[in-house]
Amino acid sequence: MTITEKNILDIRKYLPANVTLVCVSKFHSESTILEAYQTGERIFGESRVQELTLKQQNLPDDIRWHFIGHLQTNKIKFIINFVELIHGVDSFKLLKEIDNQAKKNNRKVKCLLQIHIAREESKFGFSDEEVREMLASAEFTQLQHIQIAGLMGMATLTEDKNQIRNEFRQLKMLFDQLKMDIFSQNESFTELSMGMSDDYTIAIEEGSTMVRVGSAIFGNRD
Ligand SMILES: *Cc1c(COP(=O)(O)O)cnc(C)c1O
Repeated sequence: MTITEKNILDIRKYLPANVTLVCVSKFHSESTILEAYQTGERIFGESRVQELTLKQQNLPDDIRWHFIGHLQTNKIKFIINFVELIHGVDSFKLLKEIDNQAKKNNRKVKCLLQIHIAREESKFGFSDEEVREMLASAEFTQLQHIQIAGLMGMATLTEDKNQIRNEFRQLKMLFDQLKMDIFSQNESFTELSMGMSDDYTIAIEEGSTMVRVGSAIFGNRD
């Protein structure tokens, strides 16, 4: 058994049946991805458009590719015809352009809205107020080719587990509130993407439905 295979089997022990594993394969080789594929994993996450399009061309067709990084509007067109889920939508401008490109491709593309939960300034995402404002706007309701499938967030990079737990809890609360207030008639608002290699077990305890795990599967990135 390879290390990748062993890591995946270990992680599965911690995953409840309702939690989806996104294998974050950015910077890792196609042969390493195939090792994970051979254990049965089909959902892979990448954060760079060029790397994703190359891998998508070379790897099996039944891989379900998720885009997890910061997406630039001018690059949407390169992934729009195959991407299954875009995790990090952090502005109306981006959402609108995804809608525009999806329309051209005759698709409805699933998106997660990224919420800023961390203390760090540098992390992207909407505040609670910003996301509510956008969802209530007339402009938003006109978008026909995107589907808001849920929320995504990244906790502060810290050793303080309580801090991390509180941030995930805050995101779960927002998720539940939006589900009640705005998406009660919308059965596709189901995913809460939170948790990475160092914090996915906490995220699961706090209600994550989708964990994005990279280094704990594939080792450190160069
Ligand atoms: C790289 C990355 C991950 C995976 O990080 P690990 O700590 O290696 O598990 C998850 N989410 C996003 C948005 C990332 O960019």
